[in-house]
Amino acid sequence: MMDLFEKIEILGQAAQYDICGSYLCQGKAGHRQKSPLGRWIYPAVMPDGREIRLLKVLMSNVCENDCLYCCNSCTQDFRRVSFQPEELARLFFQLWHSRRVQGLFLSSAVAGNTETVMTRMLETVEIIRWRYRFRGYIHLKILPGASFSIIEQAVRLADRVSLNLEAPNPQRLQKIAPQKQFDHDLLSRMKWIRKLADQGWRTRGGQTTQFVVGAAGESDKEILTTASSLYRDLGLRRAYFSAFQPVPGTPLENHPPTSLIREHRLYQTDFLFRQYGFSVDELIFDSQGNLPLKADPKLTWALNHPEWFPIDVNTASKEQLLRVPGIGPKSARRILKLRRQHRFRDLKDLSAVGAIASRSAQFVLLNGKRPQMPKQLQFGL
Ligand code: SF4
Repeated sequence: MMDLFEKIEILGQAAQYDICGSYLCQGKAGHRQKSPLGRWIYPAVMPDGREIRLLKVLMSNVCENDCLYCCNSCTQDFRRVSFQPEELARLFFQLWHSRRVQGLFLSSAVAGNTETVMTRMLETVEIIRWRYRFRGYIHLKILPGASFSIIEQAVRLADRVSLNLEAPNPQRLQKIAPQKQFDHDLLSRMKWIRKLADQGWRTRGGQTTQFVVGAAGESDKEILTTASSLYRDLGLRRAYFSAFQPVPGTPLENHPPTSLIREHRLYQTDFLFRQYGFSVDELIFDSQGNLPLKADPKLTWALNHPEWFPIDVNTASKEQLLRVPGIGPKSARRILKLRRQHRFRDLKDLSAVGAIASRSAQFVLLNGKRPQMPKQLQFGL
């Protein structure tokens, strides 16, 4: 008989491929590191910016599907285990009570029927909420093809729900997850979550999704086109990007891994959508539809649009300031506030509001003139 600790080791380890927050640990060699907090306890950044520790675990690693990239695929030969709702709820309570975790991220492989698995996940969360009176953060994964009533219960119980698209369109998904139907199993369910939000069942953390980057041969443009339409049409809160890493023993074990720089560029572009007012049509892609890896996407855009610059820091609108490399939303807000009191005269004034002055210098006018770059900024000191 397997003890609880063994189960959580196996099901916590299996949950690591799902990204649940923007807190990405990257090692010196360019690989993700295990969380310093333990294999199944992860730091995650909350929608309000707080960082908390989540128990991140699968309900079960038994799966009837054979997604080509996945370590839990039914073709893999390893030990399969499942939690009972009672035991997982009790385990979470013990970890929460002893202050080791502050929230839960619960996902699952598809052990037989989606409805049965999701019912067990919901039962677990109900016990945690009602019996153990836990009012903190719970992120629930919605499994492909879940029914409307299951999704309705999930949004009533959770603070955030997510459904992983994994690929940007039906053709790409077919290449890596042939049993999942993009429109029927995934997108339609995301639309239901939006519909429930419109009816007042809006989860605090909204809905999110994840793409496996590079497994299906898709371009960045395909991923970003889909992500931007999800932000616009479904009110998606966040898209997460997970650079494909081959898992030994899967059909994609010899497929080259995706560089973490590509993943990073996608996150930078995602910020441009959400915080800088960029649209996908404005981005600069190479002939393959990918973002250049050498420079960040905002700098690439600025270098390709000399007609926008230089921008006068003392008179520019917020939208114009946000187009300047080195000026972010916080520094733009501070510029707009402080320039009512004094003019911005040189690059030190820009640095003082948190802008990266060395990056902004060639794109701005300060006091009506192109700024002189001080020596310490030229050398990045
Ligand atoms: S449905 Fe696909 S991605 Fe999900 S656990 Fe099963 S094989 Fe993995």
